[in-house]
Amino acid sequence: MRKIAIYGKGGIGKSTTTQNTVAGLVEMGRKVMIVGCDPKADSTRLLLGGMAQTSVLDTLREEGEEVELEDIRKSGYGNTLCVESGGPEPGVGCAGRGIITSISMLEQLGAYDESEHLEYAFYDVLGDVVCGGFAMPIREGKAQEIYIVTSGEMMAMYAANNICRGIRKYAESGGVRLGGLICNSRKVDRESDLIEALAEKLGTKMIYFMPRDNVVQRAELNRKTVIEFEPDCEQADHYRSLAKAIDENTDQTIPTPMNNDELEQLLVKFGLLG
Ligand code: ADP
Ligand code: MG
Repeated sequence: MRKIAIYGKGGIGKSTTTQNTVAGLVEMGRKVMIVGCDPKADSTRLLLGGMAQTSVLDTLREEGEEVELEDIRKSGYGNTLCVESGGPEPGVGCAGRGIITSISMLEQLGAYDESEHLEYAFYDVLGDVVCGGFAMPIREGKAQEIYIVTSGEMMAMYAANNICRGIRKYAESGGVRLGGLICNSRKVDRESDLIEALAEKLGTKMIYFMPRDNVVQRAELNRKTVIEFEPDCEQADHYRSLAKAIDENTDQTIPTPMNNDELEQLLVKFGLLG
């Protein structure tokens, strides 16, 4: 089973890209579980056709230890298995700890057992590196393979570089590796070249260039992935191609994050910084 975590700046498109990619993987016949690790609990909305009604942490708070797998794991599009970790009580507790509590609960309840025949577990992790909680799934060895969603916008690239710092730290002691960058386009000039250059500096590759397309918003309004909402459109094919690229990817590296000077030089070269 491949355990994959998706990182990236908030709002960059992690949840959208993850769910559409998962829809592509289930079309290929893969068995996939997706675990939302953002207190917003919107990581499975497009696969479930609406917001999940029960998060793991809420269920634990309400039911104590009497939780069953069916209480927290729902079946979504193409028999995807959908879980939302949920958040700690506002102002109390660390979101990162909550994620580990949720994953441990899933383990205890047998969600990863051989008999489940899972091929992929995806973790859609909230994006900010400021809190150590972000690193929990990789620090605790819950995910081994990371993809970073970025765009050619400066802050998204800063975030990608910072995330690489976090991954490097745990890659040296544990087994976590970077599988690549997903460029979720913001229509920045020369964006594809820019993200390829960024990837090279970070010791990885751009695994896919995902165009920006309003069909993503139309599908979202209908609480669906693009693959379900408009299966014959070009964007649906792009998500299928990304799913295939991940399915076939064998390049796993320890990232080589840049210092701020190096990153700024790259931005200057592409005209993003004066
Ligand atoms: P994150 O999970 O990283 O916070 P989301 O997946 O919620 O980000 O995406 C933020 C917004 O960007 C959503 O409203 C989504 O519809 C939009 N979006 C993401 N990817 C694309 C795309 N390729 N084309 C158009 N809109 C997109
Ligand atoms: Mg999200």
